[in-house]
Amino acid sequence: LPRALPARAEAPAPGPGPEPDCDVPFTPEDLARAITARAVEVHFQPKVRVSDGKVIGAEALARWRLDGRPVPPARFILCAEENGLIDALTDVVFSKAVRQAGRWQAAGRNLKVSVNISVLSLDRLDLPDYIVDTAAAAGVDPTALVIELTESRLMTDLRRPLEVLTRLRLKGVGLAIDDFGTGYSTLEQLRRIPFTELKVDRLFVAGAAQDATARAILESSVALARALGLETVAEGTETREDWDLMSALGVDMVQGFFVARPMPAEEFDAWHAL
Ligand code: C2E
Ligand code: MG
Ligand code: MG
Ligand code: MG
Repeated sequence: LPRALPARAEAPAPGPGPEPDCDVPFTPEDLARAITARAVEVHFQPKVRVSDGKVIGAEALARWRLDGRPVPPARFILCAEENGLIDALTDVVFSKAVRQAGRWQAAGRNLKVSVNISVLSLDRLDLPDYIVDTAAAAGVDPTALVIELTESRLMTDLRRPLEVLTRLRLKGVGLAIDDFGTGYSTLEQLRRIPFTELKVDRLFVAGAAQDATARAILESSVALARALGLETVAEGTETREDWDLMSALGVDMVQGFFVARPMPAEEFDAWHAL
């Protein structure tokens, strides 16, 4: 286990083990082995500014292959959360992402790197130091990083998360509320947590031009973000029509298959150089 981010004191109860409906069956032990071997890889998906089409950032996304077959991130992230492996997984992904951020910085590429952090990690008061120290070791300024918070469960007590996130924000790290409009993100959290960025879930982005309800939710989310001074990101921009709508609505950044899929760093660079 990593030195800077040791295993949590009380691991959550073990998960159900191999999921019968999963295309690739795996056990928590398979995942633990991959994490220990640091065999979980990181792909990067570009974030593009709508006003000028410039690539200004990249989201780091965990990728794991078992016996050559990709396991869906949603499944192994949940497995990690349920089996006390999430901090170790976060360390693998975060340190790889930050090292890549350092390479981009050294190459004169001004890209903000976003990393997903489970809300389960927010009860760790050493998380801000871990993030800042890991970034410093890679020569990366904290202001070049964004932490994306995905809510897989309700944060009932905000005190600890609030302290951790405020410390990160004070160090200059950006904070994104991910999958806005789905999951457990509440307006109370938007009011209290010093977010810098709001990512509208792709449920309200892809095909929104043909879906009056999705479009209404998208528009009000963008208006809310703007009123709160947050940058807006439209996830799941899949078509030219989606892009045009985001542009018309004044969305700041777009991420999605219309621009590019998540890809290994070398592919990202080749794509970016085009
Ligand atoms: P997310 O953070 O909302 O990441 C965006 C997801 O949408 C990614 O799925 C990405 O591949 C997918 N996506 C991007 N553009 C499009 C599009 O145009 N259309 C569609 N249909 N999908 C698109 P992915 O990589 O499968 O990850 C799923 C989720 O797993 C992520 O959602 C995030 O919540 C979680 N995750 C991934 N990597 C990590 C990680 O390192 N740590 C944590 N805690 N969670 C992670
Ligand atoms: Mg995300
Ligand atoms: Mg998201
Ligand atoms: Mg999502």
